[in-house]
Amino acid sequence: MPDVRRIPVSTDSSGSPEGGNSAYLLADRGVLIDPGPPGEETWRRLRDGVEDAGLALTDVEHVLVTHWHADHTGAAPRLASEAEATLAMHDRDAPLLGDYRAARQRRLDRDAETLARWGVPQDRTDPLVEFDSRSPLPDTVPVRELADGETVEGVEVVHSPGHTAGHAAFVLDDEGFVGDAVLRTVTPNVGGGDTRQSDPLAAYRETLSRLDARVDTAHPGHGGAFDLSARTAELRAHHRERGVRVLDVLVSEEERGPLTPWDVATDLFGEMRGYHVKFGAGEAFAHLAHLEGNDVVERVGDDPLTFAVAGAVSDAQTAVERAWEQ
Ligand SMILES: [Zn+2]
Ligand SMILES: [Zn+2]
Repeated sequence: MPDVRRIPVSTDSSGSPEGGNSAYLLADRGVLIDPGPPGEETWRRLRDGVEDAGLALTDVEHVLVTHWHADHTGAAPRLASEAEATLAMHDRDAPLLGDYRAARQRRLDRDAETLARWGVPQDRTDPLVEFDSRSPLPDTVPVRELADGETVEGVEVVHSPGHTAGHAAFVLDDEGFVGDAVLRTVTPNVGGGDTRQSDPLAAYRETLSRLDARVDTAHPGHGGAFDLSARTAELRAHHRERGVRVLDVLVSEEERGPLTPWDVATDLFGEMRGYHVKFGAGEAFAHLAHLEGNDVVERVGDDPLTFAVAGAVSDAQTAVERAWEQ
């Protein structure tokens, strides 16, 4: 049994819809996973957690981060620096921390462009860019880039995209540190959290299968451990059901002509504000792209992106079930 210590590094009231962040210390390997958000409170909890395990901060030799979101990377540069540890991430996400300042600007530009392409009106995207405040991270920091299958002190890197393009789970025996790929009480956002992915839901389905094959006990980026396979079954069912609703919108609104992801999102979720704009439109896009990949819907326009049903759909449920079997 791996020696795993969970350190709750932020509280549920920190504003994230996912709840408080969990860091994990593998004391006998000198590995710390997902140090958590920036700020003094996290830092104090992290330091106390390491000391409670009978270690000095300098006993931490490797800081591993599952993905680029600030609630996971925020404390990582300071920890790596004070512990004189290496900081490592999957190579697809590493530049978003390693080259933070420049990569953030590129990301904001890409997000604005992508949201416009998804049909989101400008007055909804402008506040989003303001909401996306700059995290107190160094402009650049050395990050070791990890590839799928590589190991660090016996901990294996399992590329698990969908939530972000370079999300990685870290697996030791049959225990998985799964970041935001699988969470217990919320459905991880797929589509809105990283606009670099062309078919995020297909990537995410593959991720769920890969994790199922490798992991029994999941240690998530938010909250405590749970049985992985029971939860991945629920997430698949959730996405199948959501896929049916997306297809139902295209079928029932057919006379409006081809629809953008934003049209579909507003039909599904109603009025959206703040980050819900990005998450809602991203989720609709993820489902439309997934149905397109399975020939259930077709792409009609490219900018803005519009979709229509690919042929006669007599029963959305059956069509989506078939797509999920492929
Ligand atoms: Zn995340
Ligand atoms: Zn998170």
